Amino acid sequence: MVLKILLFGLIASLAEILGGVILVYRRRWNQRTQEVLLALGAGFILALVFLNLIPASYQTLGESAALYMLIGFSILHFFEHTVVGHLHFGEETHTHVMVSRVASLSAVAGLFIHAFFDGFSISIGMQFNFLLGLLIFIAVLLHKIPEGLTIASIMISATFARKKVLYAIFGIGLSTLVGVVAALLFSNVSAKLTGMALAFSAGTIIYVGASDLIPEINKSKDRIPPLVVFGGIVLYYLSERFLEGLVR
Ligand SMILES: [Zn+2]
Ligand SMILES: [Zn+2]
Repeated sequence: MVLKILLFGLIASLAEILGGVILVYRRRWNQRTQEVLLALGAGFILALVFLNLIPASYQTLGESAALYMLIGFSILHFFEHTVVGHLHFGEETHTHVMVSRVASLSAVAGLFIHAFFDGFSISIGMQFNFLLGLLIFIAVLLHKIPEGLTIASIMISATFARKKVLYAIFGIGLSTLVGVVAALLFSNVSAKLTGMALAFSAGTIIYVGASDLIPEINKSKDRIPPLVVFGGIVLYYLSERFLEGLVR
């Protein structure tokens, strides 16, 4: 099981690295591909959270689940938007903001924490219930390529040398894996702690869907990406049905 979890964590990290490396060497990304991936990811995450993660957290912890969800949500908000001045998903177009290298490095640090919790959630989910973990993995995977792109884009806007951009991309990929390993340590402590970590992860995942992805999609020039969000919800439903048949 541990090997399986590490393998899925590694795939998520590699997707993130791929997203960044493509941007470094191609300079541009197809805007539509980026928007569609973010929108599918957002719809998928929202369905996952409402239909599966929140109910599972309550079943495990009872009413106290709400508190851990709020803590998870707040921690990502704190690291992405209070200690960091400027951070959003997708390509960095506000070069005037990124002139300050401190601003860009703080944004990268925010994503570093975010990536850690992506890995953490996959790992906790799989330990709790393999099917649930697989669904969290897909939710993370869908936004990992745009996430890698975001990091590369922030650093390129701040005119960092290519080598440093690549270090940052690999660093954030590694952060995802560290999150996976950190959550593995929880399983040896107690089932209660795993339940708390699951509710906490649910809070961080709600944040990613509702605050990282949805605002970015709503900024798009036409209505197609907001519509694709519903496609993400349908994709969730189909994935769950498909994986249920497969895992059982
Ligand atoms: Zn910006
Ligand atoms: Zn992420």
